[in-house]
Amino acid sequence: MRVLITGAAGFIGSHLVDRYLNDGWNVVGMDNLLTGDMENLIAAGGHPCFSFVHCDISAPWPASISDSGGIDLVLHFASPASPVDYARYPLETMRVNSIGTQNCCEAALTWGAQFLYASTSETYGEPLQHPQSESYWGNVNPIGPRSCYDEAKRFGEALVMAYWRSNGLPGRIIRIFNTYGPRMRRSDGRVVPNFIAQALGGAALTIFGDGRQTRSFCYVDDLVEGIVRCADSSATTGVIVNLGNPKERTILDFAHTVSDIAAVPLRVEARPMPQDDPSRRCPDISRAKELLGWEPRVSLEDGLRRTIDSFAKAGNE
Ligand code: UDP
Repeated sequence: MRVLITGAAGFIGSHLVDRYLNDGWNVVGMDNLLTGDMENLIAAGGHPCFSFVHCDISAPWPASISDSGGIDLVLHFASPASPVDYARYPLETMRVNSIGTQNCCEAALTWGAQFLYASTSETYGEPLQHPQSESYWGNVNPIGPRSCYDEAKRFGEALVMAYWRSNGLPGRIIRIFNTYGPRMRRSDGRVVPNFIAQALGGAALTIFGDGRQTRSFCYVDDLVEGIVRCADSSATTGVIVNLGNPKERTILDFAHTVSDIAAVPLRVEARPMPQDDPSRRCPDISRAKELLGWEPRVSLEDGLRRTIDSFAKAGNE
C-alpha cells in the first residue's frame, strides 16, 4: 500500500510519515518547506520505503508524482497552521488550501485513491455553541486577520464535499483541535512551544489577555491514531469528523501545568489579546467515538512531559 502525504515535513505530517512507515506502507512525502523542516524527517530519511518530493503542491505537480500510479491514499496536511505562520504567509495559506486542495483531489481521483483533508477547529471561529459538534456552522470573521486560514479551510472543506458529491471522490475531512507534541517548531508562536521554550529558558510565560480563554490540548500520537482510523474507514467518506481532546482548560491553568512539569516557578507576563482570538474551544468527539471507536488516551501531564523532554533535548544538541 502506498500513501502520499502533503506537508510531510511539518509537525503532524512528519508523525504521519513515521506511523505509516511503521505500519508497513510505502510513503511519498511532499513539502515546500515553507514552515516545515527536513529535521522532522530524519528518522524517515533512511527508510527504504520513503521518498520525498520538494515541491509546492499549489503549483502544477512534477510529472514524477502526477504520472506515478499506485497511490492508495492521499493525506492533505500541507498548510501553515499557527496564527503567527498564517499571518506571515496569508496568500500561501489561501493557495495551498484552495488550489493545493484541488490538485490533491484531482490526483486522488486519477489514481482512484482514498482522500483525507486536514481541516481545523478554526472553521468554528468564535463559537456560539459549546462544545463544538460537526453540525455547528461556526462564527467566523470572514475578513479578519485569521480569515486567510479559517476561510481557506472552509473553502477546502466545501471543495472536498463538491468532489465527493459530483465526482464520487472518496474524501473525508477531519477538523483538528489544538494538538501538541515533539517537533512543534519552537518559533511557531503557538502557546505550547512558547510556554515550553519560555519555561526552559527561565523566561516569564507570555499570557495573551487575561488567560481565561480556553483550549483543549490533544497529544500528537492520539491525533495520529484518529487520523489513521478515519482514513481507513469507509463510514467516513463525505463526512466531517472532529479530532481533539475534549478536556478543556484555561490558558492560565495550562501555564501552571507547564511550569509544574518543567519544575520551574510560574512567572507570567501579560500581553494584549490578539484580534479574533477565540474565547472558548472544545471538541464534541461523539462522532469520532461512534464511527472510529476513538478517543484520546494520553493525559496532558504525560504528553507535556514527553514534549518538554524533546524540547530540552533539541535545545542541548
Ligand atoms: N496564547 C498565549 N500566549 C502565547 C501564545 C498563545 O496566551 O504565547 C494564547 C492565545 O491567545 C490563544 C491560545 O493561547 O488564546 C492558543 O493559541 P495558539 O496560538 O496556540 O493556537 P490557536 O488555538 O489560537 O490557534
